[in-house]
Amino acid sequence: MLDIQKIRADFPILSQTVNGKPLVYFDNGATSQKPQVVIDAEVKYYNEINANIHRGVHTLSQLATDAYEISRGKVKEHINAKHAHEVLFTSGTTHGINLVANGFASILKPGDEVVVSSLEHHSNIVPWQMLCEKTGAILKVIPIDQNGELIVSEFDALLSEKTKIVTVNHISNALGVINPIKYIIDKAHAVGAAVLIDGAQAVPHLKPDVQELDCDFYAFSGHKMCGPTGTGILYGKEEWLNKLPPYQGGGEMIKEVTFEKTTYADLPHKFEAGTPNIAGGIVLGTAIDYLNEIGFDKIHEYENELLEHATKRLNEIEGIRIYGNTKNKASVVSFNIDGIHPYDIGSIIDKLGIAVRTGHHCAQPIMNFFCIPGTIRASFSFYNTKEEIDAMVDAVKKAQTMLS
Ligand code: PMP
Repeated sequence: MLDIQKIRADFPILSQTVNGKPLVYFDNGATSQKPQVVIDAEVKYYNEINANIHRGVHTLSQLATDAYEISRGKVKEHINAKHAHEVLFTSGTTHGINLVANGFASILKPGDEVVVSSLEHHSNIVPWQMLCEKTGAILKVIPIDQNGELIVSEFDALLSEKTKIVTVNHISNALGVINPIKYIIDKAHAVGAAVLIDGAQAVPHLKPDVQELDCDFYAFSGHKMCGPTGTGILYGKEEWLNKLPPYQGGGEMIKEVTFEKTTYADLPHKFEAGTPNIAGGIVLGTAIDYLNEIGFDKIHEYENELLEHATKRLNEIEGIRIYGNTKNKASVVSFNIDGIHPYDIGSIIDKLGIAVRTGHHCAQPIMNFFCIPGTIRASFSFYNTKEEIDAMVDAVKKAQTMLS
């Protein structure tokens, strides 16, 4: 059992009032709040060891380099990568996906195929469209059904020896649906395609095991898992990272530079040009330690309780429709109320201190599929409570009365 009051005390922001009401923060899918240990670690870095990494012989530079590499090692352990050099620091999921899509420009030929799903965030659609425009490859899309689940038989039918890469999210940000990624990875590998998993929405809720999954790439953001903004990780299998060209040129990523020819550094530095977000990278390690201390099994169990409670309570509301009607779901409820624009509900409940996301959630194709302008998305974290959910349900009911 989690001691929720103790956990809540770790997050200074949660004790605020917003518009005169206690803050109820249900926009965790957009970004999570940060515990005091994470905030303290950022301050400690700048107070004590701030220096550039991998370049100075002086003490501070070595301390900062050690802390950065220790953090890489923590991520390696956390996702069970085989090697630390398969773990690349990025600025977030978007950066990681673009890095891979850019690299595939040197691999794809006209007529090759890239498979994405209908459930993707724009950041796992647009880079692949740009890649297809550049190379003459063709984008194929796995459809979804009315429950918001991928239609697996249609995915099977899309695969052929023309498929070069398949890219899907682990958990949908718009609906919370958990995708059958192990199945997708195995099937894609059977035709020789690589697989990238967008884990942005998964890492706050579970601990991915990249070796067990056998994915070729796994991208995620630090800020959704209690870490700082502007941090992220791209895991890539060694053989793939060796095959792909560098994404950006600059300092740190070279072995030798002459005007005739430049040779590139070994992994992971080949993909880490320039001065990175050093503090952020180090503090991401602190965030991962914090989550592991709480324990992902406990987080999973408690968040499921929150999901069940929210689904039950929201279903009391007349005219509600919840999208993503499946048992395989993270603690996210995406819904609409008959005849009311999601933005109007979101604005009214904000006045009551409740933060939800309204809109298309950077997933316009899903909204087009359901023929809606957007949804109201409440995404729960382990620091939320059933009482907060009750407050949201009351607020939504109040908004409904005001608007109808
Ligand atoms: N993919 C998914 C599924 C997401 O939810 C998000 C963030 N909303 C992203 C990618 C992009 O993440 P970031 O903005 O941190 O790069």
